Amino acid sequence: TTVLVTGGTGFIATHVIDKLLAKKYNVISTARSEAKYSPLLKNFKAKYPEGTLIYEVVPEISADNAFDEVLKKHPEITIVLHTASPASFGYDLPLEDAYLKPAVNGTLSILEGIKKYSPQVTNVVITSSIVAMADTKASFSGQDCSHVTLTTDMWNPLTWEEVKDPMEAYAASKKYAEKAARKFYEDEKPSYKFATVNPPLVVGPQVFDDLVTKQMNSSNEMVNMVTKLPPSTEPQTSFPAITVDVRDIAEFHVLAFEKEKLADERIAVASSACIGQRFLNILNDNFPELDGKICKGDYASVDKLEDKMCPRYDYRNIIEKAGGYDFIPLETSVID
Ligand code: NDP
Repeated sequence: TTVLVTGGTGFIATHVIDKLLAKKYNVISTARSEAKYSPLLKNFKAKYPEGTLIYEVVPEISADNAFDEVLKKHPEITIVLHTASPASFGYDLPLEDAYLKPAVNGTLSILEGIKKYSPQVTNVVITSSIVAMADTKASFSGQDCSHVTLTTDMWNPLTWEEVKDPMEAYAASKKYAEKAARKFYEDEKPSYKFATVNPPLVVGPQVFDDLVTKQMNSSNEMVNMVTKLPPSTEPQTSFPAITVDVRDIAEFHVLAFEKEKLADERIAVASSACIGQRFLNILNDNFPELDGKICKGDYASVDKLEDKMCPRYDYRNIIEKAGGYDFIPLETSVID
């Protein structure tokens, strides 16, 4: 079975490729350039000498028909995992060009390309986000969010017209892209099965240690950021979130097409709620060599603050359909 993974140099996608190769799927992936994918390809070839992994270059997913050549060239692709979407901050572009166009056009390009060239495709999985679902203003406001419960049938009410900053542009881009994909699926009624994976904050190790850079991908930078806080004994309440390990969310990209019952779902899962103080506690507990070098905050405050600041979530329907699942605890994700 051959699986196409778009955005195959990304934090999550590289773990998805790792899971696929471990399970003996053949993998075709896309990257912006050879320079971007070649160090990864070298690592994957060393780890899976018998595995089949090919990278194809797709420099810009907002371009018209961005995926046509790849799909035409590879009639063996039967499963498509579309993970590519702008997930970084600091682009030197208007917000629409930086986020909305690549997210929406990229999603429609892959779906239109499959329609034109890949009738053999049996499953399509698109990486959406919790920010497409949750009312981001109400759920992660830093205020009392204990009354909010996130479920898989929600949509973020945020509209593009309301967007003021890159964070909101990112959230809106994910919602508009998922809506566009679901509308395409309803209108076209293709024969393949369709699901989205809607991750919360994804943390954990990079797939290969030697590719770790000083600046990490955006979601891991949230952990990195607390290590740069000035010393303080105040509770550190930054970024209330719910979170999942990258290896678990990669596994759910695979379960999304392997488990019949997950077809048509919005696969939102999480291991725990967290705030910045939780990351500090884990780091201070496990790395005595950081003593005096990183902030301690207020160790004892964490449970109470998380209880108040983080939304609840109810994703039992997804876990049931997956046949149960044991998540990697946040402590392990942060240590790794
Ligand atoms: P990364 O930034 O590590 O990966 C994104 C990938 O998409 C990269 O390979 C990137 O290439 C590619 N890409 C982005 N924009 C373009 C473009 N315009 N043209 C071509 N390629 C592009 O992020 P993650 O791994 O964290 O994210 C992967 C997916 O998961 C995204 O869809 C993201 O929205 C979603 N997600 C992530 C969460 C998280 O906490 N990490 C949470 C919820 C959803 P390049 O680096 O070369 O730009």
